[in-house]
Amino acid sequence: DTQALRDDREVILADPRGFCAGVDRAIQTVETILDAWTPPDGEADDADLPPVYVRRQIVHNRHVVEDLSDRGAVFVDELDQIPDRAVRAGVPVVFSAHGIAPAVQDEARRRGMEVVDASCPLVSKVHREVHRFVRDGYQIVYIGHRGHDEAIGVVGEAPEHVHLIEHEADVDGLDFTSETKLVMLTQTTLSLDETADIVAALHRRFPWIEEPPGSDICYATQNRQHAVKLVAGHADCVVIVGSANSSNSVRLVEVAQDVLNERFAAGDAGAEGSGPGRAHRVDDASDLDPSWFRGVTKVGLSSGASVPEDLVQGVLDALAGWGYGRVSYAETIKETMHFVLPSALRSRGASGN
Ligand code: SF4
Repeated sequence: DTQALRDDREVILADPRGFCAGVDRAIQTVETILDAWTPPDGEADDADLPPVYVRRQIVHNRHVVEDLSDRGAVFVDELDQIPDRAVRAGVPVVFSAHGIAPAVQDEARRRGMEVVDASCPLVSKVHREVHRFVRDGYQIVYIGHRGHDEAIGVVGEAPEHVHLIEHEADVDGLDFTSETKLVMLTQTTLSLDETADIVAALHRRFPWIEEPPGSDICYATQNRQHAVKLVAGHADCVVIVGSANSSNSVRLVEVAQDVLNERFAAGDAGAEGSGPGRAHRVDDASDLDPSWFRGVTKVGLSSGASVPEDLVQGVLDALAGWGYGRVSYAETIKETMHFVLPSALRSRGASGN
């Protein structure tokens, strides 16, 4: 009955969710530069220069980028958008958490830019693996998403040696002789399950292919996927907070949907993606559609690694307004990972906290 349904309504919140150590460090890097900045005298020649440039979105979240822009950071797609005048004035350039290809680093060096590299150390680890395997004579099969900043950076390390594949079907398009030393590397934010299928296909086709000593899929991606699976195992529908270009957020939606598909027959899902059995992605509470929750008692909720917690709180508030005021937690692991700020920042004399 309706009353019973109302009484049972709740949100199941995934833990861990939201910021990972790499995102936290990247945002703190830009904030530290902004905090240390003193606005120049209004009459000075460089009074119009910003405190900092950031190449690409520092992390793939619209709100984070907008907040930092509001505080004066200027985001550019490429370094040629930064005027020489700013370089001469020493305005620092921050590289985003997703890592950069050596060509970008070379250009920055050639132009004498003051670089602060906020690449996540776990992405940089994959770059180092590329170097090591290329040096040892390997061809590298890299599982990643074409066009994603992280994949562009990794492939850019050795374009002749790194072969990007996205899906299991792409394995058929690869051709290596059995004399070729082969290793596979992956983007840090892939779906564990989907990757397992691609890895199996690679082993079938190239039985001699090697894997790196540890998984490239990072701890934060793994932990968030495990937690969202637990949530989706108990919820009727799942909401993921994260931007559309955030790889790990989009993977969380897919992982949740896979679990829901096993629990809800396809026919149970409401028209146009509403009702039980569906996973949805929102940038923030304003994207929520009340029709998603028709016939839903338990709403699962999580957020991608680039998502500030206040956006999750906004979704919780909206759901509370629709009767889902009670919150329970699905906790899988306590995270303790922390990365120190980039060395260039520490040598600038700015303090991190
Ligand atoms: Fe680093 Fe993983 Fe966070 Fe990406 S998701 S920034 S690899 S910790």
